[in-house]
Amino acid sequence: MHVSDKAEDIAGVDDDADTRAIRDGVRALCARFPGTYWRDKDRARAYPAEFVTALTEAGYLAALIPETYGGSGLGLTQAIAILEEIHRSGGNGAACHAQMYTMGAILRHGSEDQKRRWLPEIAAGRLRLQAFGVTEPTSGTDTLALRTTARRDGDAYVITGQKIWTSRAEHSDLMLLLARTTPREHVARKGEGLSVFVVDMRAAPGDRLTIRPIRTMLNHATTEVFLDGLRVPADCLVGTEGQGFRVILDGMNAERVLIAAECIGDARWFIDRARTYACERTVFGRPIGQNQGIQFPIAEAYIATEAADLMVRKAARLFDAGRHIGAEANMAKHLAATASWQAADMCLQTHGGFGFAEDYDIERKFRETRLYQVAPISTNLILSYVAEHVLGLPRSF
Ligand SMILES: Cc1cc2nc3c(=O)[nH]c(=O)nc-3n(C[C@H](O)[C@H](O)[C@H](O)COP(=O)(O)OP(=O)(O)OC[C@H]3O[C@@H](n4cnc5c(N)ncnc54)[C@H](O)[C@@H]3O)c2cc1C
Repeated sequence: MHVSDKAEDIAGVDDDADTRAIRDGVRALCARFPGTYWRDKDRARAYPAEFVTALTEAGYLAALIPETYGGSGLGLTQAIAILEEIHRSGGNGAACHAQMYTMGAILRHGSEDQKRRWLPEIAAGRLRLQAFGVTEPTSGTDTLALRTTARRDGDAYVITGQKIWTSRAEHSDLMLLLARTTPREHVARKGEGLSVFVVDMRAAPGDRLTIRPIRTMLNHATTEVFLDGLRVPADCLVGTEGQGFRVILDGMNAERVLIAAECIGDARWFIDRARTYACERTVFGRPIGQNQGIQFPIAEAYIATEAADLMVRKAARLFDAGRHIGAEANMAKHLAATASWQAADMCLQTHGGFGFAEDYDIERKFRETRLYQVAPISTNLILSYVAEHVLGLPRSF
């Protein structure tokens, strides 16, 4: 058996026939969006609208919405295949991955009325819920210290504050927003007093909601959002007032597993590129891949990726079985992000000077995959979660 067939077999060993069909479908779609497409968008820092439309029309972004509400009713096990394939093709799911999972807050914690109002529209792609306003400039990772407030006023809440790194806010109709409804000093437990709202940004007056793009090292459509006395109807509250932190945490585990799958896709893309180049590039009269100094880092990156993929699949499987996956989701994200960064560095090194040339796409993917060390959760915070909540070590902060 040729080595590439073997690698393909190992990667797909746990897939059932449905998942394999999903992978084939996503691969075919992504083939319409080659490196030149992503390179042009990257240079212009432009939103890949055509790609997002194609993915929406094919129904992939509605994978996790139950059939009752117009979606495909698939599990996380299938959804990870979609995002992995996008990244494995050289593309980037970050333009729209949140449309897949942000609605989970409504699905798991919303009222029946809210589900009927929003989910079928999201499933059909007529409504975009892909902005997630949690991070703030002053509180950063310390989410419970966030300062944005929502004050009840009759049949509405009045929201004031600032969010940062709210990705895709300019390309979303709705935003899931976390705000404080009870001052921190008035709550019995530190996780209480925060609430989650679905904010309809289309209905927001310009002087009450301002979105400012932030130009970043990668093409990510991220922004800062300023809220100045924005009134939202009270029926936009998701779940119970004061219990919003729990609503957000539930969704974050699914998000971590999905993003871990993007890292696996990135890693496999880097490894494919590196081994192809290592076989083709001849220096000193032989392919560079004949040197073990080149072979071993490729093999190491491959092994790390396959090991990480096992944890990603385990986390997805447990999530689909209704289990709490705090530990597995964090470990999957950490292992996968580490593997993708290892593969990125290896791939750049294997390509020598050509790795720095835009036309090879490696430097773009290198910048893109670096993000996962920091967002949606940074490495240190995962390690502290595992140390404290899994291993029972003393609380650090
Ligand atoms: C491109 C991009 C897109 C993003 N999209 C979104 C989005 O859509 N919605 C959203 O809400 N947020 C988003 N984020 C925010 C992202 O989740 C945060 O940047 C991330 O969680 C880290 O928070 P911070 O930047 O405030 O870092 P900080 O909290 O300021 O931390 C800085 C560094 O210190 C470390 N650190 C902090 N405290 C400790 C500690 N106690 N022990 C050890 N180390 C510590 C951190 O690990 C980190 O490395 C995005 C960020 C980026 C860059």
